[in-house]
Amino acid sequence: MINVAANIDNIKIRIARAARKRNIDANSVTLIAVSKMVDVSLVEQVYNLGVIDFGENRVAELNRKRQLLPAANWHMIGRLQTNKVKDVVGHTCLIHSLDRWNLAEALDRRAEYKEVIVPTLLEVNISGEEQKAGIAPNLVKSVLAEVGQLKWLRVLGLMTLAPLNDNQEESRPIFKELYALRDQLIKNSFSGVDLKYLSMGMSQDFEVAVEEGSNMVRIGTSIFKE
Ligand SMILES: *Cc1c(COP(=O)(O)O)cnc(C)c1O
Repeated sequence: MINVAANIDNIKIRIARAARKRNIDANSVTLIAVSKMVDVSLVEQVYNLGVIDFGENRVAELNRKRQLLPAANWHMIGRLQTNKVKDVVGHTCLIHSLDRWNLAEALDRRAEYKEVIVPTLLEVNISGEEQKAGIAPNLVKSVLAEVGQLKWLRVLGLMTLAPLNDNQEESRPIFKELYALRDQLIKNSFSGVDLKYLSMGMSQDFEVAVEEGSNMVRIGTSIFKE
């Protein structure tokens, strides 16, 4: 039996401990339950335990679950194909995976048509792994300047994924670097850009992520595993 209540209690304790180390309020860290591998009945259980943010990495699955649980906040965290843009604009509270200019343009076009603002995070490839999505750190500044011009798009922060590892200390330099990059970028005050969120940390490394300034952790396995 999966005891999601116990898993969530455990995660919240660990987030609180990490937040204390950084001297921040644990409530300023949003726990996003990544429900991509589970059925909506488990999503409902978690929702009834007070977790209201959920992440999905596929548009069709996000929309299916969103329709069953429309009161929750649905985050798109996976790679987004341009031809799926029409199914996601207006249906998600935050897109974490804005990783290229033509996607930004497509989102903006659809948002204009629907007359809704699209909140996004820029995905940054800090680790430099070739198979990873995300904008190279040295290009983020120029991308932000351009994307900020798009009328219907908002960039509310940065997202990254650390490499898979068994020791979360290996993620720490990655998270430190994203934090430092955000610090640098904030000085520019681009229009349409307000870098208030740092989405970093998953089951393998969310404590280190919070210690390094994350305020959105995306956690799947640690909630939904036995
Ligand atoms: C699946 C996924 C997660 C959650 O990973 P877990 O290891 O299950 O916590 C976080 N972020 C992204 C982008 C994912 O695709």
